[in-house]
Amino acid sequence: MLEIVPLKAFKDNYIWTLRDGRCAAVVDPGEADPVIEYLAAERLALVAILLTHHHPDHVGGVPELLRRGPVPVHGPRNEPIATLTHPVAEGDGVAIPELGVDLSVLDIPGHTRAHIAYYGALSGAPSLFCGDTLFACGCGRVFEGTPEQMYASLAKLLALPDRTLVYCGHEYTLANIGFAQSLEPENTALAAREQRDRRLREQGKPTLPSTLADEKATNPFLRCREPAVIESANKYLGARIADPARVFAAIREMKNRF
Ligand SMILES: [Zn+2]
Repeated sequence: MLEIVPLKAFKDNYIWTLRDGRCAAVVDPGEADPVIEYLAAERLALVAILLTHHHPDHVGGVPELLRRGPVPVHGPRNEPIATLTHPVAEGDGVAIPELGVDLSVLDIPGHTRAHIAYYGALSGAPSLFCGDTLFACGCGRVFEGTPEQMYASLAKLLALPDRTLVYCGHEYTLANIGFAQSLEPENTALAAREQRDRRLREQGKPTLPSTLADEKATNPFLRCREPAVIESANKYLGARIADPARVFAAIREMKNRF
């Protein structure tokens, strides 16, 4: 039976670990030590590494993991990652036969130039590993792409089924909810989420995975057509715009300063 386990790295990164039987694969191992310790404690063999983008807090542990034995390293074809053995882009699939896992690759540029996501059914549940593009109640900063690209990438993820489980790269949820509430103070789904996720954090538990249904109801970056979000963007800009990509660009800038 496939399990998906978050390993904590740095201050607020998660290294998502897929395990079944004696085998495991990791997504975005920014650090090697948490992975090495977990594999040893659980007597698991690493069989694959999946990377979403080139940032050091997502790929930094790869060389050390490979020193312990070669495994396939899947990651974005068009990013500078020296350790990749299997460069992929949208249209490609990633198979991890030891785990019975088949994922497809989606191009979601914006945070970085060629950021990718992995998507597929795991134990029957549609599951998305989206790195630093879609966060719980937020989204990544736009470092290498344009706001239009990032908005199009989020729109692509939004088209996945509502029950899709969202496994993102960081525990930023409560701070993101605080920002979302400043834009949409009347959103009752957001208030309910704040209570639920605050309780989880008080218990030391991750707020992840979330579902796309949660994100659609509460994540302002997926709600750029909502009157309250448009209104907040217009107040910030001192202008009257309604185009969702421009609303997105405005609230992304607001979040950078929040
Ligand atoms: Zn990043």
